[in-house]
Amino acid sequence: MLKKQLASWWKNESDGIRCYLCPWKCLIKEGEVGICKVRKNISDNLYSLVYGNPIAINIDPIEKKPLYHFLPGTSVFSVGTYGCNLQCKFCQNWNISQKYFDDKIKYYSPSEIVELAIKSKCKSIAFTYNEPTIFGEYVIDIAKQAKKNNIKTIMVTNGYILPEARMEIYKHIDAVNVDVKGFTESFYKSFTGGKLKTVLDTLLYLKNENIHIEITTLLINGENDNKIDLKNEFDWINNMLGSDIPLHLSAFYPNYKMNNYPSTTIESMQNAYDIAKNSGLKYIYLGNVLDVDNNTYCSKCGEIIINRSGYSTKIIQKNKCKCGKENPITFLKNNKQLTKK
Ligand code: SF4
Repeated sequence: MLKKQLASWWKNESDGIRCYLCPWKCLIKEGEVGICKVRKNISDNLYSLVYGNPIAINIDPIEKKPLYHFLPGTSVFSVGTYGCNLQCKFCQNWNISQKYFDDKIKYYSPSEIVELAIKSKCKSIAFTYNEPTIFGEYVIDIAKQAKKNNIKTIMVTNGYILPEARMEIYKHIDAVNVDVKGFTESFYKSFTGGKLKTVLDTLLYLKNENIHIEITTLLINGENDNKIDLKNEFDWINNMLGSDIPLHLSAFYPNYKMNNYPSTTIESMQNAYDIAKNSGLKYIYLGNVLDVDNNTYCSKCGEIIINRSGYSTKIIQKNKCKCGKENPITFLKNNKQLTKK
């Protein structure tokens, strides 16, 4: 049974409701929804149509989010709904992110989600598949319950959010993977509809709050993979966030509104990897491609720390490498207690 929940982050105006969750600041008239399709003006109140109504719940390896330096080798309970506040032409989950259907969706309360995560022996809950910003109220309520049960929480996000909502949501979140979809405003405008600056502001906020950050960039040949833009991006990450931030370079496959584009070549992936390495980033991983070395090595002595084969993960050395260097990775401790670096 579908339930709708009164939303947060909005104000009444003379000609509708202004939503202040993300930078679109949609003015939503009676009976209409915002750009994300899941926040509706009903009788001069704003409701979330997806609170408690996940369209996808799964148990995943945490490496699939991707998070490589947060609880490696554990399972994560993944939750996603319909809708998104960007319109990426290359979206890999467009069949849920760009649609909304209001029937046949089972209701899951925040406590039920946490109970399912516990039953599944998951150490964390990830808000993922579509953009979790747009169901921020559900995220907060699940995260509060999760915290009481020693379950960590993860956002897999485009980072497109306004400061007040960002603060209220992320104070409940332990780890984040942020998509940096390109490194020019023109790319963001043409291919996503959003603004790069907002995403970078979110990353600076997360760094300042000491929340675990990993970054993913999907490489599209000829659009966001030229040397200058990539160097600017990787230099920015290195200078502003630090060289320990894990970077996931992911291959594009023809999809959604970009079915006529070629898949990313392995040469382009290698080229981006080399640029990131030269920028000083220490942990760079390649995604959506086969037969690559995605192990984690000590950045001081080169010894292996974590061995990965597909989504199978073997931890070789935990908190400290045998050379004495501390690994900038949050490991699961004693199967019960989690340590945050
Ligand atoms: S969250 Fe949705 S309704 Fe609110 S401003 Fe963003 S796109 Fe518009």
